[in-house]
Amino acid sequence: MKTSVYLDNNATTRVDDQVLQAMIPFFTEHYANPSGLYKAGKIAKDAVEGSREMVAELVNAKPKEIIFVGCGTEADNTALWSAIKCQPYKKHIIVSSCEHPAVSKVAEVLKQQGYEVTKVLPNQQGIISPDQIARALRPDTALVSIMWANNETGVVQPVEEIGKVAKQGGAFYHIDATQAVGKVPVNFQRSLADYLVFSAHKIHGPKGVGVLVVREGVCYQPLLLGGAQENKCRAGTENVPGIVGTGMATKLAAQNILVLFRDVAPLRDWLQVQLKNIFGADLMILGESAPRTPNTLMVAIRDANGRQIQEFLSQRDIVVGTGSACSCLKKSTPSDTIVSMQVPEDFQRGTVRISLSKYNSPQYGGRQDDLLPLLHALTIWRQAQLLRRKARQ
Ligand code: PLP
Repeated sequence: MKTSVYLDNNATTRVDDQVLQAMIPFFTEHYANPSGLYKAGKIAKDAVEGSREMVAELVNAKPKEIIFVGCGTEADNTALWSAIKCQPYKKHIIVSSCEHPAVSKVAEVLKQQGYEVTKVLPNQQGIISPDQIARALRPDTALVSIMWANNETGVVQPVEEIGKVAKQGGAFYHIDATQAVGKVPVNFQRSLADYLVFSAHKIHGPKGVGVLVVREGVCYQPLLLGGAQENKCRAGTENVPGIVGTGMATKLAAQNILVLFRDVAPLRDWLQVQLKNIFGADLMILGESAPRTPNTLMVAIRDANGRQIQEFLSQRDIVVGTGSACSCLKKSTPSDTIVSMQVPEDFQRGTVRISLSKYNSPQYGGRQDDLLPLLHALTIWRQAQLLRRKARQ
């Protein structure tokens, strides 16, 4: 079944046709193990190395700094544990209060193990200031971990400025760039990150491949122990088709960023205006005056339940995300990001995340009119909400 209106691209994206075509021969023809010393193994190995070069080029890193892993979560976990294991004498870490669970859950475990964890709060626009990081840094800070762009709001952090502060303070610096790569330019060299992470399935690549970039010369401890794959940095037989698809996805990503800024951001801004017309003062745009990724629009609706709106839209074949952390319909809990941005309480549960992609642009067959079913459905939902309110009065 084809989803008629797919607007949850921060959750995952459609695989690009060119990515799929690049991958197929590595399932059916060149399926040999890249560790094999025979010719067929070398073909697979060369393909992995070709992808490594493409990935390195996109983020301005060296090919030898790229490690392919199983997903963004694995890359984040590996980076955090590596920073900890490399500095056993340091017992403090700094994370933002808006991190993805791939980071925040590791921070929780570290806390249980006796580490001190400073959670830095954003301002109401969702931005973390470098000054806050400077104030939180201590001589025993092992790591500063900040996401480049937020998965819910799309708010982009001042990662280079934070990097300068973290490095002056002598801490390792980890950036979760999973929602930034392929949406805004990401320059690993300039970011000053020791570890940077992203995931192929967010950029029209396949699921099952994460990328961990480790700065040359920086201490690194692998998470998985076993074979000598990935230059002894990540044990386990390489997902060759996935890695080939990741290479192709990164090759296409620079062009995609142009399309997102040229065609998709104006569409997002148009949607924003339409939603304000429908909901008036009962709608907030989260991070509206902060720099945001060009595809993301997170709204909060007063006295609403984002999960119920998601379900209402899903019944009409329209797919959106929400900002709540609980999967149950009735008792949805606002996410850490929403709470820490100090979204007023009567808006906190009514979050809906709309995330577009290049497939919404005319170059890829998308039309503004394709979004009308969403606006139509939300208008119906709003009318029902107003009727319910009136009945309660
Ligand atoms: N970090 C961020 C900011 C994300 O948005 C995601 C996925 O939603 C991840 C990490 C985890 O990536 P993966 O799904 O590849 O494990």
